[in-house]
Amino acid sequence: MSSSDAAVPPTWARELLTQVLDSLRGLTAVPLEITSVELIDRAAERREAIGILGLDLDPDIQQSAEVDVTGTAGGEVFQFFLLDLGDLAEQVSCCANSLTDAVQEALGSVPFPTCPGHAHPAVVEQRAGQVYWSCPQTRATVLKPIAPDLF
Ligand SMILES: [Zn+2]
Repeated sequence: MSSSDAAVPPTWARELLTQVLDSLRGLTAVPLEITSVELIDRAAERREAIGILGLDLDPDIQQSAEVDVTGTAGGEVFQFFLLDLGDLAEQVSCCANSLTDAVQEALGSVPFPTCPGHAHPAVVEQRAGQVYWSCPQTRATVLKPIAPDLF
């Protein structure tokens, strides 16, 4: 990976985040905004570590892309990381779960995302290769598909 590759905007991450945010419409009254999506370049770190340890490794070997995501939820700042790893269903689940955890932490006691009619938050569930927001109590109840356009 050359240094110019590291400057490429992480389109996959932006697309994933847009789709996950879209899926939350109707499941939360909290205004959500992604304020920055940045590719983390660990090549220099890796090169330095390999040099210090004197390892016989190629420092430019292809690694999974890692993205640093920051945003705001009802005015509270949240942050999490995304890895370009696994199949689409895993990526969508991972993104939805990471976002949920980060936003929930930022919001405190407000259940996020809201499970309609219940006091608990909706949860991410993989089913038959697709990903959904579901009610954790009545597992059969799928509330909404997540990122259906990506599948
Ligand atoms: Zn529920």
